[in-house]
Amino acid sequence: MANCQVMRCPRAGETIFATDGATAMRREFWVCQQHLAAIEGGAAWCIENLGSDGSAILIGDDVIAGDLLFHGFRMSWETSPSSTATPRRVLSLIAKSAGGSEESLTFVISDEQLRELAKDLTWHLQGGGEKG
Ligand SMILES: [Zn+2]
Repeated sequence: MANCQVMRCPRAGETIFATDGATAMRREFWVCQQHLAAIEGGAAWCIENLGSDGSAILIGDDVIAGDLLFHGFRMSWETSPSSTATPRRVLSLIAKSAGGSEESLTFVISDEQLRELAKDLTWHLQGGGEKG
């Protein structure tokens, strides 16, 4: 029997909790009775990917703390050290966690990709649902 796979839970896992295979890949986790009761009682939970350490279930306040909220973006031009190379457009997406830490992801983006992104965002703003 494994440990309960809820983040920081010290108890033994006593039963298997399986995620719903209808909306995402079905996965199984060992959980203790208390956490199974919490999940079945409607507590918010999500799965956190811990890289090579596998994954854990976040529950309650940890769910909110784990969320990254969109905080802004920045467009800039990156000039290559080589004077012959054309500058590249760079898009940075900035996120903040509930704990206040900031993360950013930076991409080199082409004009065509930027147009696609703008078109898609506009479509969502105009009430677009799932694409058929
Ligand atoms: Zn537990």
